[in-house]
Amino acid sequence: MEPHITPNRLIAGRLALDFANLIPEAHDVSWQEFVDFLVDSRVVSKERGERLENLERSEPGAVDGVLLKILRLRECVRAIFSSVEQGRGFPHAWAAPINEILRLTEGHDELVTHEGRWRLEFVARESGLEWLLAAIARSAAELVVEGASAPIKRCANAECRLFFYDDSRTRQRRWCSMALCGNRHKVAAFLRRKRAAG
Ligand SMILES: [Zn+2]
Repeated sequence: MEPHITPNRLIAGRLALDFANLIPEAHDVSWQEFVDFLVDSRVVSKERGERLENLERSEPGAVDGVLLKILRLRECVRAIFSSVEQGRGFPHAWAAPINEILRLTEGHDELVTHEGRWRLEFVARESGLEWLLAAIARSAAELVVEGASAPIKRCANAECRLFFYDDSRTRQRRWCSMALCGNRHKVAAFLRRKRAAG
């Protein structure tokens, strides 16, 4: 098996935006990558993640089916969030893949504790594997409902362009992460100034 490429960088602040950022290069998401994402973003527990990984061998048909839905949802949320980020509207039909998952995944919210804090967690009625997309579809739907005022942004580094939710007080955040893209920019600007001065 090939080694995992890079760990998912969960910097977006919203599940659906992190999902849109999942493996930004234009290639398909593998089952392994998707399960890792669910575990990293705590949609499922580590133990559950391990059981899900095994489905690729035990239920390849079901996994292939849900992978298609994963790709479709990812294309859909990327297109929608790009439009919102640019202050544009989007065709109503684009919401269809989100609605499809919401429809398929009946469930309820439940109070759970995590690290001493209460939170509401969606508990899906499990049938098929679509329930794995329920929390993502729900998060995407909430962002759509927030509308044009949702502070959805993309990293200003042209080679990065990760989506994130800017809930900084000044709403001036430019980078996915100051430590990565922010510093890279600062160093580049410094070198430019130095060259200009020299
Ligand atoms: Zn970045």
